[in-house]
Amino acid sequence: MSDTSCLFCRIVDGEIPATIVAETAFAIAFRDIAPKAPVHVLVIPRRHIGSLSEATDAAELGELAMLAADVARQEGIAESGYRVVTNVGEDGGQSVGHLHWHVLGGRALGWPPG
Ligand code: 5GP
Ligand code: ZN
Repeated sequence: MSDTSCLFCRIVDGEIPATIVAETAFAIAFRDIAPKAPVHVLVIPRRHIGSLSEATDAAELGELAMLAADVARQEGIAESGYRVVTNVGEDGGQSVGHLHWHVLGGRALGWPPG
């Protein structure tokens, strides 16, 4: 179900434009508007889930993870390496309240994150 006040639901619904790079029945992947690495794609479920903490369906989460790996292959960073991360809540640095996995790569990524 779509939440009209949610930015990423509006991207799913096509109300806000985004550069979609992959999609499945349950998920879409699109380029981050403010990329933090040469490749920065967001993988999200089509239906509204607030964050990983609100997820209830393991198969759905598995599909998101598989799509993240597909995106990495498609973007040419599977061999060089990449990071998949989801920020949760205030301390996690989550700024959009719709579950999303960041797929980051194309440069060496620092660890641990700040
Ligand atoms: P968070 O901070 O919640 O982990 O990640 C949210 C991400 O969404 C940020 O990396 C931010 O750049 C991205 N973002 C915010 N608004 C938009 C938008 O309108 N379009 C796209 N494509 N990305 C967005
Ligand atoms: Zn949403």
